[in-house]
Amino acid sequence: MGSSLPPALTDLALEDYKALAELPHAKRFSPKQIRSWVLERGARDFEAMTDLSKSLREQLAQGWRVRRGSLERVHPSRDGTTGILTRLEDGQLIESVSIPEGDRRTLCLSSQVGCAVACRFCASGLDGVIRNLTSGEILEQILLARELAPESPLTNYVFMGSGEPTHNMREVRKAIGVMNHPEGLAIGARRITVSTIGHPEALAALSEDDIPFNIALSLHAPNDAAREALMPGLGRSQLRETLKSAQARFEKTGRRITAEVVVLAGINDTVEVAQEFAELLGGLNVVVNLIPWNAVQDIDLSSPAPERVEAMANTLRTRGLAATIRRPRGRDVGVACGQLRRHAQRNEP
Ligand code: SAH
Repeated sequence: MGSSLPPALTDLALEDYKALAELPHAKRFSPKQIRSWVLERGARDFEAMTDLSKSLREQLAQGWRVRRGSLERVHPSRDGTTGILTRLEDGQLIESVSIPEGDRRTLCLSSQVGCAVACRFCASGLDGVIRNLTSGEILEQILLARELAPESPLTNYVFMGSGEPTHNMREVRKAIGVMNHPEGLAIGARRITVSTIGHPEALAALSEDDIPFNIALSLHAPNDAAREALMPGLGRSQLRETLKSAQARFEKTGRRITAEVVVLAGINDTVEVAQEFAELLGGLNVVVNLIPWNAVQDIDLSSPAPERVEAMANTLRTRGLAATIRRPRGRDVGVACGQLRRHAQRNEP
């Protein structure tokens, strides 16, 4: 189905736009104009590109599409969080979530349809991984979110939607290249965070990127055995190697690594677990983000009591570690963590 469609401009890396100057009706500055229409002015078709000659527009339309996906639905939540559901050309759905907080607005991006890691508490991997997203499909999540709320500009971008970014490294890095470049979306590296399960080799490869984006590590448990039990698709957990690689990244970029811990009642919500984390992470430049679990339909787990999460944070702080607690958002409309796509698919005929 997809193969008969022409390629989409959103999938181009910035240097690929140059080739458009070779088209017979193109001028020297046409690539720059086209790039600006796609990435800055959000054109959805070639007719909109009014400063290109009609013949060039016709020619472009023969070989190209502008975008790959289309907006399916928007789910506004009472707290201002907005779930955005995109329909891809093969019928798959992906979600992005726009989260306001003070004078910031963070966009949570998906990198895959589904996920192979299948963390026991997560909605994204319940049906396995279906496919990787292309860089264009990643970038279009940003373009759509911008268009939906032009009055409240996005300030931060986190790869914390569906998918494991390091399982789709090439397209994620290509997308970040366009996001970060001054001629692309011009988003500063410190405003971009890639969240990963942090396999040591994958983390090392991610760290090689010249762009010093932030990295968040999904740890969830302070030892390999407990991690493997919570994250069945992880394979062998190699926490020590992972942390060594993360520390090397810190030394290279000076950017502190975030350690994410989804806290589950009766599983990892104790002061003992916090102590074990403190031992594991002592001396490293990390901040621990405790994330109270957002309930997911069909998953038989429970959210922790707030005071238990507080106690964990206090234990970590007493041991000299920085610790934060994530405030749950968008719960009333179920837009937290990969639930939207699942809901939408279920309710389809
Ligand atoms: N695969 C990557 C990125 C996507 S998940 C990763 O694992 O890091 C982004 C974060 O959201 C991860 O830390 C993940 O564990 C967490 N998460 C997933 N489902 C959640 C839920 N139901 N409640 C709270 N956090 C969740």
